[in-house]
Amino acid sequence: MFKQSAQHIGTYYAGTYGPIPLRPRLEEHTDCDVLIIGGGFSGLHTGLRLALAGKKVVILEASRLAWAASGRNGGQALPGWSCDMPPLEKALGTERARQLWDSMVWAAEEMRELPERHRFDIDYRTGALYTAVLPRRVRLLQENLEEASEKYGYQQLSFIPKQDLPEWIASPRYQAALHDSGAAHLNPLKLAQGLAGAIEAAGGRLFEQSKVLDYRETDAGFVARTEHGEVRGAVLVLACNAYIDRLDPALSKRLLPVGSYQVATAPLDPELARSLFPRGTCAIDNQFVPDYFRVTPDNRLLFGGGCTYLGGIPADVPAATRPYLERVFPQLRGVQIDYGWGGHIDCTMHRTPDVGRQGQRYWLQGFSGHGILPTLAAARAVSDAILGDEQLLGLYQGLSNPGFPGGDLLRAPIEAVGKAWYRLRDVV
Ligand SMILES: Cc1cc2nc3c(=O)[nH]c(=O)nc-3n(C[C@H](O)[C@H](O)[C@H](O)COP(=O)(O)OP(=O)(O)OC[C@H]3O[C@@H](n4cnc5c(N)ncnc54)[C@H](O)[C@@H]3O)c2cc1C
Repeated sequence: MFKQSAQHIGTYYAGTYGPIPLRPRLEEHTDCDVLIIGGGFSGLHTGLRLALAGKKVVILEASRLAWAASGRNGGQALPGWSCDMPPLEKALGTERARQLWDSMVWAAEEMRELPERHRFDIDYRTGALYTAVLPRRVRLLQENLEEASEKYGYQQLSFIPKQDLPEWIASPRYQAALHDSGAAHLNPLKLAQGLAGAIEAAGGRLFEQSKVLDYRETDAGFVARTEHGEVRGAVLVLACNAYIDRLDPALSKRLLPVGSYQVATAPLDPELARSLFPRGTCAIDNQFVPDYFRVTPDNRLLFGGGCTYLGGIPADVPAATRPYLERVFPQLRGVQIDYGWGGHIDCTMHRTPDVGRQGQRYWLQGFSGHGILPTLAAARAVSDAILGDEQLLGLYQGLSNPGFPGGDLLRAPIEAVGKAWYRLRDVV
């Protein structure tokens, strides 16, 4: 449905990275232990863990590494899944949901340590605010804090009442917030490039501009074909997110690609930039369609808000986003916006992750707009399973992710009507 371009789109991350190393195109027939299709966080995290465990890994990316969601996101590394814990608990029971949560806490810790371990920089900054816009959703924050502490033993949350908010964020929009000291924000393109370098150092091979046209299963494993070459792998990992499409129609049916977009302002006066978040955190509100934003190390405000359920991206992203940005920070009225871009998130019906296996074919998808830490937690489950330990993968396999009704033509409109109801609840 969506076509990959040969180069990165015009994001803030690609625009400020400097020369981005280009990996070769696949122009040979080769083999490996584990063949991974998709060079976003899901593929890269899985590839690194397996390469470090001694497996011969090949990753095929249709465009550039982190060309899609992994190189376009808000950079907020928040512990938890898009669906929150209730659907996970309902499907798995309290004890198994707790095990899944523990793997998320592991992912948050691992994200802190990975760059240091492999010597790369991701502009890692600690802390996130979960803010409430509507007075009636303040209680939700308190319930979240109690549940996290009592049920899951997570003690990193603290409640910030309205009168203390100016110490944390210079916005009149919020009634209260939670501070999560286990969360962080980071530069996702630097993370992807760092992971890629670490995979290569561990002996893995990465190919860019190498779209897999199809794959087939043979007695000896899997064969994936690109325009100029072929890779045989004993194990196959599909990490294609919203772009999986015809490569695997059964997996594709379980995803609704939702358009999401954001902007980066011009660098602000350093004092003004610091005043927006006096303690250097990022923020996301608890509306159904949230605003999420942070200040970058070069003093820009990066701001996302709004999404489209029919998968399109507004033609003028800055114009579409500006009203949301100025609603949060009226002091930035008229601010210059340097970058505006969009991407696709892979929503499942219940926003639960879709991670599993069938024989030696594994997949990770369905992170539903919240994937920086979830892809790492899921990559651990998949790589552990490939190495013989199925315990974590078994948890994901307990989740049910049905296909969207109505086939390709109807799934987005049906979903859009449903979501309109929730949007309404964001204002009344
Ligand atoms: C605008 C936006 C903002 C977001 N903000 C946040 C945030 O702040 N925090 C957060 O946690 N999450 C956020 N997310 C979600 C997060 O970025 C994703 O969940 C995560 O990056 C998914 O990683 P992935 O590897 O599964 O998918 P992707 O990054 O989409 O990678 C899939 C890759 O597979 C490749 N591919 C597909 N088909 C083929 C093929 N046939 N052959 C070869 N390669 C193929 C694609 O080209 C692509 O590069 C955001 C997403 C968007 C779009």
